[in-house]
Amino acid sequence: MKKLEEKILKDGKILPGGVLKVGNFLNQQIDTPFMKEMGEEIAEMFKDTGATKILTIEASGIPIAVSAGFAMNLPVVYAKKNKTSNISGDCYSTMVHSFTHGNNNNVIVGKEYISSDDKVLIVDDFLAHGSALVGLIEICEQAGAEVLGCVAAIEKGFQMGGDKLREKGYRVESLAIIEEMTDTEIYFREQ
Ligand code: 5GP
Repeated sequence: MKKLEEKILKDGKILPGGVLKVGNFLNQQIDTPFMKEMGEEIAEMFKDTGATKILTIEASGIPIAVSAGFAMNLPVVYAKKNKTSNISGDCYSTMVHSFTHGNNNNVIVGKEYISSDDKVLIVDDFLAHGSALVGLIEICEQAGAEVLGCVAAIEKGFQMGGDKLREKGYRVESLAIIEEMTDTEIYFREQ
């Protein structure tokens, strides 16, 4: 999505450790008209797939997932990060390593929210090493739901998570893919 690439170049801040901060339009502050456009772009990519639900992970995946949910007229479920590993039998759960915080989170979804009847589109803000998406795929597997595909707003291609999932046969789409990021420059993958 050309406009997203332009916004990343204009507003993105490169932090140490291969982290990109886009706090003024995607994360801490949300550019709502642009969020709407990204949701519509995702809806166009996955139209006619028979999706019944969108799944994301708190907190930063929620705005883009909800925007896609509006555009596709679908409910959005978000996995919660749970500090304790003491899980009741009412939840699907898995462990997700947080790239930005460097810790592991037990991630849970109530069993009532995803079932074997669901065809799920997984949406997140960033795709780096793929731990968040792999965790959400595992939740769908536990529920017996079909994973139609995964979408990230921004994929950092150099951290390989997206390509590893594609190699496994998952449909992974990203609105912008950063192929290379130096201390000062960002280069995008042609799509
Ligand atoms: P992964 O699990 O693919 O390694 O990382 C994806 C998750 O980490 C996303 O849910 C996102 O919140 C966070 N994340 C990864 N890389 C970045 C980044 O460069 N910037 C921001 N803001 N979040 C990131």
